[in-house]
Parts: sequence; C-alpha cells; structure tokens
Amino acid sequence: MKIAFRVVELKLKHPFTIARGSSTTRKTVLVEFQHQGITGYGEAAPIQRYEETAETVAGFLKQCADIPLPDALTLDGFIDLVENISPGNYCAKASLDIAFHDWMGKKLSSPLWKYLGGESTRIPETSITIGMDSPEMIAQKLEEAREFPVLKVKLGGSSDEEIMKTIRANTDKPIRVDGNEGWKDRGLALERLQWLETQHVQFVEQPMPADQFRDLVWLRERSSLPLLADESVKTEPDIRMLRDAFDGINIKLMKCGGLREGKRMIDTARQVGMKVMIGCMIESSIGIAAGMSLATLADYADLDGNILISNDPFEGAVDHRGVLKLSDEAGLGVRPKKELWRQR
Ligand code: MG
Repeated sequence: MKIAFRVVELKLKHPFTIARGSSTTRKTVLVEFQHQGITGYGEAAPIQRYEETAETVAGFLKQCADIPLPDALTLDGFIDLVENISPGNYCAKASLDIAFHDWMGKKLSSPLWKYLGGESTRIPETSITIGMDSPEMIAQKLEEAREFPVLKVKLGGSSDEEIMKTIRANTDKPIRVDGNEGWKDRGLALERLQWLETQHVQFVEQPMPADQFRDLVWLRERSSLPLLADESVKTEPDIRMLRDAFDGINIKLMKCGGLREGKRMIDTARQVGMKVMIGCMIESSIGIAAGMSLATLADYADLDGNILISNDPFEGAVDHRGVLKLSDEAGLGVRPKKELWRQR
C-alpha cells in the first residue's frame, strides 16, 4: 500500500501536567494514504501508558507499506488487513483507519460524519482542559479559556484543593474532573468525590487506577457523581464488564484503534445504557476532525487537543467558543497548512 508518514513535534502552548507527569511537546505521526489518485490523511498520537511511541508507530507503518492491497478494496477488508499485521499498535492502526476513512469519504464525496451515521452537524460542546499548575498559571489559563462553556480539570495530585479553589474563585462554569488514576486509596477517592459534589462538577473521569476494579465498584456505590472510564476502557470487549464501576466511557481513537472500533464501542455502550464521551490526546486537526466525525453520536465531547498546541500542521477542525463545526467537505474536511506541511 502506498503510505507516507512523518513524525511531527507538536508544541504545547503551556506545559501540560496531569497526575502521571508533565510535558511541553508531544510527538505525533501524520500519515498520507494514496490510492487511485486520492489522498487520505491520518494521525497516530502515541500514548506512553500503552507503550507506544513515534518509533513503534514508524516501525508498524513501514511493515504496512510492504503489504499489497487487494483489487477489491473495502473498508472492513482494509482495516482487517491492518489489524492482522501484529497485535497492539492501537494508535498506529488508528492512523491508517482514519486515513482510509478520509480516503473513502473523498471517494464517495461524503463528509465522514454522514458516512458514520450522523444525522445532523450538532456536536456536544467541547470542554477545554486545564492541566495542573500554579494558581497564577491556572488563572491565566482560565482567562484564555473564557469563551469555552465547560472546563475539564486535571486532579488526582496533592494540590487538588488549591486548584479547585483557584478555579472557583474565578468562574462558576460547569467542570468535568479527570483524576487520571491519581487517587490510589478508595477512602481518599470517596472523600474527594463527596467534596467535588459541592463544586458544580458534571462527572469524574477515572478517579482510581484501572487495576483497582473492586475499589472502583465500591466507589460508585457510594458516590452520586457519575463516573466515566478512560484508562479502564480501551476497546469494545472491555465495556460490558465495566457497568458496575462506571456510568459512561471515554472513547479515544488513539486508544481503541480507530473509527470502526470507536463506532462499535458507541453501539455497545448504548446497548448497556452507558454514556459516551469522545476524547482525544494532544493531536493535530487530523485526529480531532476524526473524533468530531463520531461525536455527533456522543453525549459529551472532549476534543481540545488541537487547541492546546501552537503549531497545528493542519486546519479544518474548527471550534468557535467551544462549539465544534463539522465540515460539509468530503472525508475529514481537513487540509494541510502549506507553510507547515510542505516546507521542512
Ligand atoms: Mg482521561
């Protein structure tokens, strides 16, 4: 198959700190899939927690480039082909799944969100992430985020109270809290949740480590705040067993392997009565546009990865005051910014 890719260093506007660590740049891998004169764009944003790096993605994509495509090329045929190359490699697989979907949308002259079953261009408003920081920096970030209606706040560390106090001194906007597995003790986690109930919080994502499932069930029995799984859920088969611990799931294309699996996850979550959020990593507009194309089917969107960076090489995934605008263009509706993409 004809693919080209390059590793790009995305620069964060602010150092990004969560319960697991801090960073100022993130590597992402941008992919072009070419077939029959049409180019599809894809992206792999590697997740350290799942042992993927730009190098593992590059290795996987090189393997794929050697594989011949069948004459009769279908979406499922293509994704199965990529899936069977080797296990794991979720974000690498997502990049090809996204590129092929973009290619397919362009071939059929259909916007991808329509192709995936979306009936209107309405996407839930996206939250904007406030990472862990000093009170001064949090106040500055809140000012920069003033047009966004909902905040996503990273907690799970030693300065939880200080962070929330700073935010609540500045704004009464609704907040979604992400614990990023930071509270390791269930008693402490419950204390935090009971306190957050008084802070105009919509829900809490992954309050405790994914491998403490019994504690998560215990916590949910005692908390009135809805809990969403992020690190606890990767792909569709994980969903049913999470029903006792969570009220909903955070689907990330980089975690599950792409749009086909993401769509399956939405269908299963609906069958078992769970809420759905479409989330993201630090990504360019390619990955964000892919997430947006599924987000018409979701309850919540957390698609701010391209807003948090200063050198997005693509454009087309646009937000206006937290409202994401879907494109009527075929495929993902993203285009490379010439100055950042062609010149190296
Ligand atoms: Mg999360």
